[in-house]
Amino acid sequence: MKQDINLGKGLANFIDDTVIRSEMEKAENPDPGLVRDILAKGKERKGLTPFEAAVLLKNTDKELDEAIFQTAMSIKKGIYGNRLVLFAPLYISNECVNQCAYCGFKATNTDLERRTLDAEGIHKEVSVLEDQGHKRLLLVYGEHPKHDADWIAQTVRDVYSVTSEKSGEIRRVNINCAPLEVEGFAKLHEVGIGTYQCFQESYHRPTYEKLHIAGRKTDYLWRLHAMHRAQEAGIDDVGMGALFGLYDPIYEVLGLLHHALQLEQDWGVGPHTISFPRLEPAMGSEIAFNPPYLSSDHDFKKIVAVLRIAVPYTGLILTTRETAEFRTELLQMGVSQISAGSRTYPGAYSDPEYDRPGVQQFCVGDSRNLDEVIRSISGDHDYVPSWCTACYRLGRTGEHFMELAKTGFIQKFCLPNGLLTFKEYLEDYASEDTKKVGEALIDREIKGYKDLKQKKLLTERIARIEAGERDLYL
Ligand code: SAM
Ligand code: SF4
Repeated sequence: MKQDINLGKGLANFIDDTVIRSEMEKAENPDPGLVRDILAKGKERKGLTPFEAAVLLKNTDKELDEAIFQTAMSIKKGIYGNRLVLFAPLYISNECVNQCAYCGFKATNTDLERRTLDAEGIHKEVSVLEDQGHKRLLLVYGEHPKHDADWIAQTVRDVYSVTSEKSGEIRRVNINCAPLEVEGFAKLHEVGIGTYQCFQESYHRPTYEKLHIAGRKTDYLWRLHAMHRAQEAGIDDVGMGALFGLYDPIYEVLGLLHHALQLEQDWGVGPHTISFPRLEPAMGSEIAFNPPYLSSDHDFKKIVAVLRIAVPYTGLILTTRETAEFRTELLQMGVSQISAGSRTYPGAYSDPEYDRPGVQQFCVGDSRNLDEVIRSISGDHDYVPSWCTACYRLGRTGEHFMELAKTGFIQKFCLPNGLLTFKEYLEDYASEDTKKVGEALIDREIKGYKDLKQKKLLTERIARIEAGERDLYL
């Protein structure tokens, strides 16, 4: 099958380089009073304009940086509480015809062992993930003409069809695959995907064009309009992102915010999630070993904090590319979803000789398994791990979810629902140590409930889970 390239011809470029440059220029050496005013606006959870975000990012005053972190933390606490959604990536194929300079899967990497999971391979991987307790997966694919929308849709059906003895089933399948046409997205919508995720990598067009050397991904505009096409096909949870390390990180944050604004303008709803992967070493990629725009941990933390303040109701996703210690720090800045126990090649979860640099996309920074991550976040840091999928299954997605999120809904429903899924995890999958710290956290949470009606509902459902019922939510 031959691939069409230049599909983006004629599409509008809503990332205006001149506008972004002028916003960055005007934000240079910001006045401390302006930084404080912007933070005061941020605290009201009204979001920020790209210029305001640039001002915060350009600030160099240490005390004000601390105030930026504090503001992000208070927004995160106010909207999301201490709940943290967990997922695992599942690599379906590392076959790819593109040539992204930073990726181990690029077509020219002839040293890479190519693998594509068939139905049986998917079954094996999903069974292992279900037995660990996962309920939400992100399927990841290279771009290849044989991976058309019908084929991808079938892999989604395959994933949903796997159930394991211990009451396991995958309740939400998100997708990270190359941009499709509207008809293709409609097929994914039909098989019940959750979020469609696609990263622009770099919003700076010359950098984008320099690093995407062959295949359909060379087309900046085709990719830029992917979210619009997904929306047109009925997928209203879309996840965007930029790959940090390729170009000026402040430019990338402004690119993300302009993209979000355009979606809001055209579809009435911004992105459901934003991801901010940092470039990791990858086989056969010079740039991945020596990123031209490396952010320090401090600056990266600020990027996450500013995103939290700028788009308060958008989920922020943190992957295992970062180390365990740094992930713990970033969680406080407003991250609402994390991956855990991730493996980055097709067949990795069921591989008895796991750890094959010759097949994987990049090296992970946090190699703890799911149980260890759960024990650490719930035992040491009081986060409630959540696998809740109630909203999605009740049709509360896209604009509906955003509207609900603004009314304190996350605290009222997502948190108790998270606790119910956590209880299930502790009953079915946790190690003894994790169970101990997890039960203590659930007790503390329930004791802290001021709404007595909700407290009663929750206590009653927790008891039903203990008695063997599953998949309960408010
Ligand atoms: N092939 C699809 C695409 O390019 O959109 C989806 C899968 S691709 C493996 C998923 C994401 O991995 C890319 O969008 C890119 O941001 C990220 N990625 C690629 N190489 C990476 C690296 N060396 N370090 C960190 N992330 C990387
Ligand atoms: Fe292929 Fe995606 Fe990797 Fe690019 S980032 S080489 S499209 S898998």
